[in-house]
Amino acid sequence: MKLTVLGCSGGIGGAHRRTTAFLVDDDILLDGGSGVGDLDYEELVRIDHVFVSHAHLDHVAFIPFLVDTVGEERRRPITVYGNAETLRILRSHLFNWLIWPDFSTIPDRSAPFLRYQEVRVGEAIRLGERTIRPLPALHTVPALGYCLDSGQGKLVFTGDTTYSDELIEHINRISDLRYLIVEAAFPDAQQGLALASRHMCPSLLARLLDQIKGDPQVLITHLKPGKGERIMTEILSYQGRLSPRRLESGMRLEF
Ligand SMILES: [Zn+2]
Ligand SMILES: [Zn+2]
Repeated sequence: MKLTVLGCSGGIGGAHRRTTAFLVDDDILLDGGSGVGDLDYEELVRIDHVFVSHAHLDHVAFIPFLVDTVGEERRRPITVYGNAETLRILRSHLFNWLIWPDFSTIPDRSAPFLRYQEVRVGEAIRLGERTIRPLPALHTVPALGYCLDSGQGKLVFTGDTTYSDELIEHINRISDLRYLIVEAAFPDAQQGLALASRHMCPSLLARLLDQIKGDPQVLITHLKPGKGERIMTEILSYQGRLSPRRLESGMRLEF
């Protein structure tokens, strides 16, 4: 599988700051933040599946534009995957005829532009040779990470999460993990805010990484604009066994 980073910033501002969205091969989106807007029309039309980590706007804002843009051109619905609460929030607060039309009933209920599919931790989704496993994240709203398995290699994206023993336990059950994309939204000086908003800061991240078995390449995402350098300096100062790098827009990971 091939993952292309469309957006990995904790905010906006300039061409390199898009919110969370990853293109997987050419038919899967992992989160639908503002990075989706950089894809060409032809690339947008090819997207069949959107896996959502949680309902926060920086991860879903461009799903409504995607569905509206390509709906008429496609023969089958785009499937949006998420936990039950995420899907409920998307239906009630986004595709609710007020913020945006309910595309799960357009042009008609039997052949809509969009369909929802609930996913649960412990239940894998298979798409051909590829397997996508939801992981338990710990955030202010019910949230998931995902493990992508090509059959040849595996990648984990934690989504938005704070430190979680349960998440660590699930990551450590994955053998031969090649990439671990994990968030660090705030510097250590804002640890209180990181805990309150259930994000990670470098000290919490170091605690998590210290317990990761295996030898994945660790890539840091969701850095707050203006604080990225500071957060990365703090992360590197912990000098753990793993050597985290900053995830950048445009990066391609193959596994
Ligand atoms: Zn969030
Ligand atoms: Zn976020």
